Amino acid sequence: MTHHVAKLVFWGVRGSTPTLERDTWRYGGNTPCLELTAPDGTHFILDCGTGMRMLGNRWTRSHGGNGIEAHILVTHYHWDHIQGIPFFNPFFQSQNRFHFYSFQSKYLGPDSLRQVLEAQLASPYFPVDVNMMTAGREFHEINGGDKWTVNGTQICCGWLNHPQGCLGYRIDTAGGSVVYATDNEPGIPQNDQNLRQLAQGADVLIYDSQYSPEQLASERKGWGHSSWLEGVKIARDAKVRNLILFHHDPDSLDKVVDGFLSAARQEFPATWAATEGMSITMSERGVNVEMRETRVGQRRRLRFTAIVSGQSEDGKNFEEKATVRDISLQGAYLCLNNRPKLQSEVRVVIEAAGDPATSSSLSLRGTVVHFDAGREKTQNGVGVVFIDDTDPARPHD
Ligand SMILES: [Zn+2]
Ligand SMILES: [Zn+2]
Repeated sequence: MTHHVAKLVFWGVRGSTPTLERDTWRYGGNTPCLELTAPDGTHFILDCGTGMRMLGNRWTRSHGGNGIEAHILVTHYHWDHIQGIPFFNPFFQSQNRFHFYSFQSKYLGPDSLRQVLEAQLASPYFPVDVNMMTAGREFHEINGGDKWTVNGTQICCGWLNHPQGCLGYRIDTAGGSVVYATDNEPGIPQNDQNLRQLAQGADVLIYDSQYSPEQLASERKGWGHSSWLEGVKIARDAKVRNLILFHHDPDSLDKVVDGFLSAARQEFPATWAATEGMSITMSERGVNVEMRETRVGQRRRLRFTAIVSGQSEDGKNFEEKATVRDISLQGAYLCLNNRPKLQSEVRVVIEAAGDPATSSSLSLRGTVVHFDAGREKTQNGVGVVFIDDTDPARPHD
């Protein structure tokens, strides 16, 4: 029997401008770029933010000299959604072929996206001009409400509410459905209703959650973005299976995004915060979220015990004595009987050995980034990244 597996990878999740601050590294600093591979192997790219550079390097390595073909869906022309284009290697290799989809901007007229590419590579803004982009390029001008099919995958798009216009996309593959709705401000009834229609019953809704609900109602009103609370409302109304908070504000440190995520999860448990390197597979078996690439950094293999407490997937609190199998300043790999939810918090208390009079325990707060069936037969392998041991910022911070 065949399984239809579609895979979505997040290469950039940050809104507005890239961030490099250490306090934003856990969710990531690259601007929007997603890779979607349909079950038949057809490649899609959603937006061309700075995350696109890493995707290009990955593809160049994995394809060798073989041609790459992909369909690129662009939501709009703001910098954060196009600035990866000049740094995407496969555009500069003649064996590759790309199909671009975007709308006609009233500021640019016909062939808007082709003009954007030429302008980005014009002197004196870039050292080589657009003629060096030797890959085959086809441009398709689309409009809100359009529907089309690529190798059996159905795509439709709808207008969102954002300065100078923006499109949301729904992609229905044989493995599952993804709705990509970033850069949207709620409040226009017709748009709000269209978005709910676009998202109806989707396996995954990726939604603009740049601001807190309080910011959205006050100083950020009219800026063209949204909040986790709006995402929750849409997810409920449209009966989507998973909500992904996306387009994190450049000034939102990791702990602020942590706060948005935990607030959203109280209302809609199947919520995730988009993280660079996170991937989602969709098939007849359901939706599976993984964050394998988050466990980076130097690790030291060892074996000692620690007390771990947190909340398991079924929502119950647990505390157990566990084995720590590796540790770094960033995180640890634990062997647990319990199964904590991905992106939930755990506390790890490590008892220092030695003279009882001088020994002390090390108490660390972590967030779960990885789960596997475990190397120990009866236990689960759980990867955690340690986070600041201060209270998570409230969503309105
Ligand atoms: Zn944006
Ligand atoms: Zn924008």
